[in-house]
Amino acid sequence: MSSEDSGGSAAPRGEDPQAAGRGNDPVSRRAAAIEAILLDVDGVLTDGTFEPGDEGAGIPERKRFHSRDGLGLVMAKKSGLRLGFVTGRRSGAVRGRAAELSLDYLREDCFDKGPAFEEACASFGLLPEQVAFVGDDVQDLPALRKAGFAAAPADAHPAVLECVHFVADAPGGRGAVRQIIEKILDARGLLDAALFRFWG
Ligand SMILES: [Mg+2]
Repeated sequence: MSSEDSGGSAAPRGEDPQAAGRGNDPVSRRAAAIEAILLDVDGVLTDGTFEPGDEGAGIPERKRFHSRDGLGLVMAKKSGLRLGFVTGRRSGAVRGRAAELSLDYLREDCFDKGPAFEEACASFGLLPEQVAFVGDDVQDLPALRKAGFAAAPADAHPAVLECVHFVADAPGGRGAVRQIIEKILDARGLLDAALFRFWG
């Protein structure tokens, strides 16, 4: 599968959008260096909607995740990438998802995502150019600006769309994360194995 087939589009930020989508373009070269992926949760792994809970009263917040995004995260883990969530909210649903996926890093209650990005890089022992960040809203900008590969769902805030290297065709919570992960795996030469050889 070529990176053209994996869809999405390269956005500006100093790169030539016309050159993107092939294996040796600047965006694919950035993706090829990625060893870990950090993701915002609301609006990235979900469509941004949630039903508030009350943790003190034992009422969990409810979110909806997409199964193809979940399998993409499993594919990334099985391919040797490290994964983390960096979210501004506290949610048992997110902690449960993180445990289910054996995530390597989880930050909740985090509105200062630039320092969180740096902390995650240090905990992974990786340089910023080896770490991707996926975000959809303006509080993600400090981390997106530091990331070696910055990506967003199609329905991200316009300021985010202008900042990132890669925009998925799909919106948040509807397959954007799967597409971004496949872009990274494709650039690293790991996509065919992840799609066709992990599953028997
Ligand atoms: Mg968000």
